[in-house]
Amino acid sequence: MIQKDGIATQEMIDSITPSAERRSKGPVAVVECFQSIPCNPCYTSCPRKAMKELIDINDMPQVNTDICNGCGVCISHCPGLAIFVIDETYGDNQCLIKMPYEFTPLPSEGDYVTATDRGGKPVCRGKVVKVVNTPMQDRTPIIHLVVPKEFSMIVRSLNINDIYDDNTYICRCEELTLGELREYIRKGYTTLDEIKRITRAGMGPCQGRTCRQLIMNEIAKLTGVKPQDQLMSTFRPPVKPVKLGFYAQEDTDNE
Ligand code: SF4
Ligand code: SF4
Repeated sequence: MIQKDGIATQEMIDSITPSAERRSKGPVAVVECFQSIPCNPCYTSCPRKAMKELIDINDMPQVNTDICNGCGVCISHCPGLAIFVIDETYGDNQCLIKMPYEFTPLPSEGDYVTATDRGGKPVCRGKVVKVVNTPMQDRTPIIHLVVPKEFSMIVRSLNINDIYDDNTYICRCEELTLGELREYIRKGYTTLDEIKRITRAGMGPCQGRTCRQLIMNEIAKLTGVKPQDQLMSTFRPPVKPVKLGFYAQEDTDNE
């Protein structure tokens, strides 16, 4: 249940899954944004106007799959890391998934990694075929991962256990490393809320979209309390910082 563990239900996923016919025609965006929040970069960033117009900024986004060509521009603009592109035409038995990825170090082209589902559970092995890391600071890197076709709507991340160490950032917004997290858990901060209060992890712009699941997994490893038995902390919609110059420019434009 999304309010408890942050993971969408199968019913929610079914409601946004592009039809089999559309998936057989080529890449297409899958927008896994299920809460009514004041946010619209997915709509404003799409060069093809494939996102249905948001009459109210709180409207939930909907992609017109007839117009979307799976370019992936919207992925790196979404502060909620909620947009993926799937391409089931990539190979006979393989699909390509373009996914947002905000950890360092980034995997490299050619790496084989463990592909995981929305809850971080291993699903299969996957191959990283491209890493798009724009130099602009406010853009999310995108990983192109190839996995068996049947997992196109299941795989949504990759297991960084293959590549991370104590210096790897678990919470990118608040710069909490894995080593620091483990130390806090060992000191007795054994709930997501306690970790959030002592480290601020989950209080940054993405509001814990990626770190909360990783923190809960790490708590589970060190305490034995499964993620589904842990208490979820409160989180709010993601925010997107805007430079003050943007508003100054708007004023000038209005004059
Ligand atoms: S993948 Fe490209 S065309 Fe499709 S909704 Fe995103 S930006 Fe628009
Ligand atoms: S979180 Fe992403 S998908 Fe949801 S409204 Fe904002 S930009 Fe769109």
